[in-house]
Amino acid sequence: MSEIVEEIRQAYATVGILLDGPAAYGTYYRLLCAGCGRMVGNVGDRLLPRMAAGIVTQQFDLYAAGLMGCACGHQRERARSLDPERWQAAQQRYPS
Ligand SMILES: [Zn+2]
Repeated sequence: MSEIVEEIRQAYATVGILLDGPAAYGTYYRLLCAGCGRMVGNVGDRLLPRMAAGIVTQQFDLYAAGLMGCACGHQRERARSLDPERWQAAQQRYPS
């Protein structure tokens, strides 16, 4: 696994998303929910160092509010345990 792919894997792991094996042509990887295994998206490996962590950090509020991630709620719960204060703020920002 290349260094950038390992970095992408670690970034998504923090919010409860697993990087699957490479999909078409080896430049895209499927993202799977770590809670139930459902596919939640794709990510390309043409990222620069530290971009993957930045993307996940920017999307934190959306995971916290349940607007991104799996319908089973795994990423939402992961976000809550990672940063309860920011999680709470996201609930108010994006009321369900
Ligand atoms: Zn799930």
